[in-house]
Amino acid sequence: MIIYSVRLKLTAWYVALLGSILILFSFLLFFFLSKRLYEGVDNSLKISANVVAKTALNRYTSAPLPGLENFLEQFLGYGNINKFYRIYDGSGNVGSLSKNIEPSQFPLTEESYAKALEGKSSYETFTLSENQNIRVLTRPVLRGGKLVNLIQVGTSLMAVNETMKNLKIFLYTAVPAVLVLATLVGGFMARRALRPVDKINQTARKIGSGADLSRRIPVPDAQDEIGRLAQTFNEMLERLENFFIQVRQFSSDASHELRTPLTVLKGQSELALRKVRTPEEYQEVISSNLEEINYMSKILEDLFYLSKADEAEIRLEFKPLDLALITEDICKHAEIIASEKQIEIIIAFLEPVEIIGDAVRLRQTLWNLLNNAIKYTPNEGRIKVYLQNKNDMAVLSIEDTGIGIPKEDLDFIFNRFYRVEKSRSRTEGGSGLGLAISKYIIEAHKGIIEVESQVGVGTKFKISLPKTATTTPSPVKAVS
Ligand code: ADP
Repeated sequence: MIIYSVRLKLTAWYVALLGSILILFSFLLFFFLSKRLYEGVDNSLKISANVVAKTALNRYTSAPLPGLENFLEQFLGYGNINKFYRIYDGSGNVGSLSKNIEPSQFPLTEESYAKALEGKSSYETFTLSENQNIRVLTRPVLRGGKLVNLIQVGTSLMAVNETMKNLKIFLYTAVPAVLVLATLVGGFMARRALRPVDKINQTARKIGSGADLSRRIPVPDAQDEIGRLAQTFNEMLERLENFFIQVRQFSSDASHELRTPLTVLKGQSELALRKVRTPEEYQEVISSNLEEINYMSKILEDLFYLSKADEAEIRLEFKPLDLALITEDICKHAEIIASEKQIEIIIAFLEPVEIIGDAVRLRQTLWNLLNNAIKYTPNEGRIKVYLQNKNDMAVLSIEDTGIGIPKEDLDFIFNRFYRVEKSRSRTEGGSGLGLAISKYIIEAHKGIIEVESQVGVGTKFKISLPKTATTTPSPVKAVS
């Protein structure tokens, strides 16, 4: 039979074990007690036979011996019969015998006579009726190596049998009663101990059926295995819940990001088709649509990159490189777009810094940061770039005199699609994914990216990269 409930299994094991111990204990108790009691009877018979031997020696008479009956009564215990003695001569003829026994009862057997001739005593048990057994000791009395007398002493085994019978009845009732009690108590205790597991199970079922990940299991006070299991389960739920929130947020953000340019595209195209336009007007609509298409391509490209990062499918090509060269080069490119807004890019400090990293990804990160600095800095602003060796770190800072980021937004700007001013960022062509990608790249280099900002004053992004610590070229998981 297969038992599916742990509670039943525990109870069954407990009862089976207890039952085995009790049965073994009962057998041992029965065996040793009966052995002791029968030995006690045999010892009493032996002492009695010695007394009879001393009293009776050489007095070969068929009359009962005075005083012996009383002695046997006292020594072998109470009872209506069955404490008797009998004395034979050396040839096996009956001499003296007690009153309560017929000469023909319990005759001298051949075996005990043969043993007596060898000088050995023998014990025999005779059955009178179903519960009436008589134990008989036959003891030889030798003189000069010759058998002169044979003494038989007997007693009933009724008292011993009675004791053993009572013990048997007691064990037959007590053992099952104890087992029934153990089943009830064991079942109760197992249910109590496993109640929190039932609760975990119920909660898990509710979560499974209703997908309500905000539910938590009540953690028992005791920090035992079940308490820890509940805690671990709750922690897992917390992570799952966060994960689902992120996924939901991400899908809604992504669809929103794509819906806006699609709506613009649709609206502009419909408007253009309402009447016949001049070639210049068509050109304007098409170039505006192209901008939206470019914007969507950029979002999809970035999303694709991040999803590959999530799947740890991006392999970074780590090679020794001079970060100063890359910084200088990117700054030169950025100057072209900065000049459109009369923004000055100043390389304030540039030390040669050798690191091991992926040049393409680091260029992409620097470009993101410089591009943001230009986007969010008003005309005629200034951007300062610093590259320094600090112990075993390469520290690169990009500082602008732009609009700044409010304090409450600082914790979120590395999240996907997070923007401080949605509309502004969009008109600047931002996808809201640039900083998430930059953070992923820097952390894949085992570096840190930090931000400090003050609204209306400016923003400083600081990247710290380990110079030597690396970073085997292996797939890395995205972090945000
Ligand atoms: P976007 O493509 O919208 O610029 P990013 O992930 O690069 O997306 O940046 C996220 C948001 O952080 C931006 O929308 C902007 O609000 C803010 N931000 C980034 N860099 C700067 C900066 N240098 N100055 C002010 N705000 C910035």
